Amino acid sequence: MDSKTLVLVLGDQLSLNNPALRNAKPQVDTLLLAEVAEEAQYVRHNRHKLVLLFSAMRHFAELLRAQGFTVIYRQFDEGVASLTQACTEALAALPEVTQLRVCASGEYRVEQIIGSWPQQLGVSVDRLEDDRYLCAIAQFKAWAKDRKQLRMEYFYRDMRKQYGLLLDDGEPCGGKWNYDAENRMGWRNQEPIPRRPDVSPDDITREVIEQVRAAFPHNPGDLDQFRLAVTHTEAQAQFDWFCEFGLAQFGRYQDALAEESPWLFHSLVSMYLNCGLLEPLAVCQQVEQAYRLGHCSLAAAEGFIRQVLGWREYVRGVYWLLMPEYAQRNTFGAKRPLPDFFWDGDTDLRCLQQALSQSLDLGYAHHIQRLMVIGNFALLAGLDVEAVCAWYLAVYVDAYEWVELPNTLGMALHGDHGAMASKPYAASGKYIQKQGNHCAQCRYNPSKTTGADACPYNSLYWHFIDRHQEYLGRNARMGLILANWRKRDATERAAIVRWAETVLDKLD
Ligand SMILES: Cc1cc2nc3c(=O)[nH]c(=O)nc-3n(C[C@H](O)[C@H](O)[C@H](O)COP(=O)(O)OP(=O)(O)OC[C@H]3O[C@@H](n4cnc5c(N)ncnc54)[C@H](O)[C@@H]3O)c2cc1C
Ligand code: SF4
Repeated sequence: MDSKTLVLVLGDQLSLNNPALRNAKPQVDTLLLAEVAEEAQYVRHNRHKLVLLFSAMRHFAELLRAQGFTVIYRQFDEGVASLTQACTEALAALPEVTQLRVCASGEYRVEQIIGSWPQQLGVSVDRLEDDRYLCAIAQFKAWAKDRKQLRMEYFYRDMRKQYGLLLDDGEPCGGKWNYDAENRMGWRNQEPIPRRPDVSPDDITREVIEQVRAAFPHNPGDLDQFRLAVTHTEAQAQFDWFCEFGLAQFGRYQDALAEESPWLFHSLVSMYLNCGLLEPLAVCQQVEQAYRLGHCSLAAAEGFIRQVLGWREYVRGVYWLLMPEYAQRNTFGAKRPLPDFFWDGDTDLRCLQQALSQSLDLGYAHHIQRLMVIGNFALLAGLDVEAVCAWYLAVYVDAYEWVELPNTLGMALHGDHGAMASKPYAASGKYIQKQGNHCAQCRYNPSKTTGADACPYNSLYWHFIDRHQEYLGRNARMGLILANWRKRDATERAAIVRWAETVLDKLD
């Protein structure tokens, strides 16, 4: 007789490719999915994320039942406190089960919990590596070993070779690995932005929306605007739409900041990739196919594939290489409390107001908004690293610590002593002006550094350079900027620093 197994499916593993499900036997094994308080409350999650995950879990449970599986499903309103409690109760109801199988979690915190189960639950725990990621943790560690610097670009080239993506006879298509230089256009309303098709919430999603609205009244997220896909088919349809209508312009405007749209030509697939509704290799292959068929430029296809095959796998590798110590890092000792406007979007800096408001309302901001608008502000103002990371983990629909932490602490705040980025992503208002059209709607002037109408990013930028001269001075890539600062007249420098301090005082 087959031994019976309880298979736990975590909320971000909703894929038939989940290794814990791959060999599960419909008439023998029992599956468990649980919406538990601990996971729903460890940060103030955006309500869009809670609805996405609960609804996608409920739809996935239906799919598994249709395949003949017995599924134990615990809804949030049943009051299950934790994954441990959900497993304990399921095992108590299934005395014939002798083993729990689960795919390893993406997050360090959850892995610690799973690690305690063999003792706590009294059954053997079969924890499988999550091979839906394209670079195994051991492979990344081997790549990183003995390297002075963990530069993404070299990792990415190896990944392209490993998966044979965008290669002609083993060489990169077009002769170059990276077409980023063609992907930096600013936004001046040059193109019509295609209207995205909404996904209409079905009965299950509508019920979840009402439950989440009632249970999480104070979390961010405007649920009247919930339009996310919650099944594999819907997520694939969203991605197909992107390949047909967004991809051709994706590369060119990847770094653009637009008044008119929260997402411009971005794909909006991170939330689906991160919970299992889409698979990373499949989306890369589909984009390569679009390029081969002449539907987009090489720069657009390469730009997209670099994000998914390169950046996404790389940040996960950095996370597992350096956790748990990584989360404690804080290069600049940044400790300023998060201003209230991070939670209500009420600021008169136009670029920041737009990025914060859409993040809070929709749980979405594209990369440059996260990095160069919100993250840059946090870096320049010296906001508390832990609080900023907790904020990013809370507000975004796609946020899980394995991807959020290296991006926020490492890339945006340069809090990891440069493990990820060779220099801080610090910029003045001029960069934001160049990349988009927010400044034209702003009460501040991006060309001014001091005075009531001066763009706050400008004085804060120089304040950052001034207060971290010693650290930045050790970085050759910062030499020119430091030299520019130092050659300015001492009175002018003092005036800029003083003005920045008035800006910072207002934050407090
Ligand atoms: C401070 C900060 C915090 C971030 N937090 C998260 C997070 O919690 N979750 C998350 O998935 N991404 C995060 N990112 C990366 C990136 O901003 C989002 O993946 C992207 O904005 C999602 O929108 P999109 O699907 O439209 O992406 P697109 O711009 O269309 O890019 C395509 C895909 O590439 C992947 N990708 C692109 N850049 C990155 C990156 N730097 N790291 C990992 N994957 C990447 C994503 O899967 C994304 O869906 C963060 C970036 C920064 C700077
Ligand atoms: S002027 Fe400064 S604060 Fe205003 S939108 Fe431009 S960069 Fe942002």
